[in-house]
Amino acid sequence: MIQILDKSFDVYIPEATLEARIKALAEDINQAYAGRTPLFVSVLNGSFMFTATLFKYLTIPCEITFIRVASYHGTASTGSVKEVLGLQENPADRDIILLEDIIDTGRTLEALLPLFGTARSVAVATLLFKPEALQANLDIAYVGFEIPNRFVVGYGLDYLGQGRNLPCVYQLWEG
Ligand code: 5GP
Ligand code: MG
Repeated sequence: MIQILDKSFDVYIPEATLEARIKALAEDINQAYAGRTPLFVSVLNGSFMFTATLFKYLTIPCEITFIRVASYHGTASTGSVKEVLGLQENPADRDIILLEDIIDTGRTLEALLPLFGTARSVAVATLLFKPEALQANLDIAYVGFEIPNRFVVGYGLDYLGQGRNLPCVYQLWEG
């Protein structure tokens, strides 16, 4: 059990399990994108650790860029998606793979997808997915772990700005 500010969390996905699953996702992507040079678009801040781990296991030619969206405060989604910052590369005719830390309501992703309308293809890879929270009609090609609708931190994900450094995924303690 760990404490971040006013809340307690316990380990939900250990580090070795995360590493092994992300490696398997990378191997799937290596196969699916053989002969292409995808442009990965990593959605900061939360996806930085997932992105770094995935990248170690990619063996295909590939490029990466980083964008930013902010829409979440505390432990409940505000439901409002703010500005998208940082997309400098032209997605036209590219094979885009969006990298997300977590898909909750799906609203963030839904707001991002129109930016890639001119791409040759768009796929989504997310470390975590909460199917019970989903409020959008989305096709998610690569999912690390499906998790219940409970707040998680660690491995890049934060609680009020803290906890991103934790090497495991932790779940809010409600005991
Ligand atoms: P959406 O609801 O739009 O799918 O998710 C928006 C964003 O909310 C995610 O990219 C992530 O930054 C944040 N988020 C959703 N669920 C959680 C959670 O359980 N823990 C943390 N730390 N962030 C979350
Ligand atoms: Mg995110």
